[in-house]
Amino acid sequence: MSSAPTPPPATRCARHPDVETGLACGRCETPICPKCLVYTPAGTRCPDCAAIGRPKMYILGPLDYARAVATVVVVGLAVGGLYGIVLSPSPRIGLFSLLIGGAAGYGVGAAIAALLDVTTSRKRGRQIQMVAAGGVVLVWLTRLVVSGVPLEWALRDFTGFALMAVAISVASQRLR
Ligand SMILES: [Zn+2]
Ligand SMILES: [Zn+2]
Repeated sequence: MSSAPTPPPATRCARHPDVETGLACGRCETPICPKCLVYTPAGTRCPDCAAIGRPKMYILGPLDYARAVATVVVVGLAVGGLYGIVLSPSPRIGLFSLLIGGAAGYGVGAAIAALLDVTTSRKRGRQIQMVAAGGVVLVWLTRLVVSGVPLEWALRDFTGFALMAVAISVASQRLR
């Protein structure tokens, strides 16, 4: 007499009981379906383990967000306001204005990154980079409003564009 081998019981996703899966979390071995699977540098993880494994410096809680946003709003209004008074946008395009914008952008980007380091205890990653970029755009907008130039100049503000491009890239590099 021979009996056919019984097939192993179908494994189902812990979060989606109607989905059969051959995948499991590499840490806690919970069955997970492709929808739940999270790729991490350490391997495939369930959403719970993926959250545990993420270094804290890359996670912004509501308080971190509030501090980060408050920081860039203050910097945006202060720097943008000063900039608008000292150097009003000019519709002239020239290498000199691009250089000035780039140099100012370097300073603005480095300052925003340094201040965010202090107010958010050295957070890193995409979220803090986005907040920093928002601060840079606020510098540009504030300066535009304070200087009171016609709106159509904004579209030809190459000094300002150079400033924003350099500032966002410098801040992103430092907050990576
Ligand atoms: Zn897990
Ligand atoms: Zn699932």
